[in-house]
Amino acid sequence: MPELPEVETICRFLHAKLLKKKIIDIKVNQANLRMPITQNINEMIKSGVVTNIRRRGKYIIWEMSNSALVIIHLGMSGKLLYFDRQTPISKHDHVIFLLEDSSSIIYNDPRRFGLVVAINSKEEGKFFQHLGIEPLTDGFSGSTLKQVLTDKTASIKSILMNSKIIVGIGNIYAAENLFLAGISPFKLAKDLSQEECDKLVIAVKNTLTCAINAGGSTLKDYAKPSGSPGYFQHHFKVYGRAGKPCIICHNTILSVRQSGRSTFYCSKCQNF
Ligand SMILES: [Zn+2]
Repeated sequence: MPELPEVETICRFLHAKLLKKKIIDIKVNQANLRMPITQNINEMIKSGVVTNIRRRGKYIIWEMSNSALVIIHLGMSGKLLYFDRQTPISKHDHVIFLLEDSSSIIYNDPRRFGLVVAINSKEEGKFFQHLGIEPLTDGFSGSTLKQVLTDKTASIKSILMNSKIIVGIGNIYAAENLFLAGISPFKLAKDLSQEECDKLVIAVKNTLTCAINAGGSTLKDYAKPSGSPGYFQHHFKVYGRAGKPCIICHNTILSVRQSGRSTFYCSKCQNF
């Protein structure tokens, strides 16, 4: 599943390919995604020019010249493929955006947990009202985090992964950030000290920024029809390393199931 850095990487790639281009047609082959594709998407988007591409959580947003927004979420298996010329349709190509220069963007999603919708920009606030703080903004600081956690009795790991509180941190980055900040994944969120909140915020921002930069370096591969965006998997410090020595203290990295997901941690480095 793409996490925030991969989605940001895709946004940057699309920014280079889509900006200032006119969408001349949208073909919908399969409208039944997690949410049905907006019925009049063609009417709303067609002939509009893409004026900006940005991200909110793991949603990709195309701002259009006619006050509409195209909102895309890749779900579990969604991909946005770019072709510089028209191309034959493949299996699971659900939506095809044709651009004025004959290039196309194809939304392909075998499991169909993603979404492609068009809304009026005025509805954006309502559409994203379920989303929490953006971790890469100035609004996400040690003091705001401490404030948010005050009454949270769940574990810090599950709070980090709750997009209603903080967006875009999945299982992998939750493990990595807690390791970097030296915080046990099982510690109750409300028990984190101010110092721990400060460390965690720095870890989150650094990890995401590094991952985005790593993803950015593989942008070229993503441009290939069969390509996928750059992932950060070669740099994991704790995730997926159960049984291997901790990179800091050489203690064995442990793995347990926590709220149905695998949690990786070092019992020495991460304060219990
Ligand atoms: Zn350790």
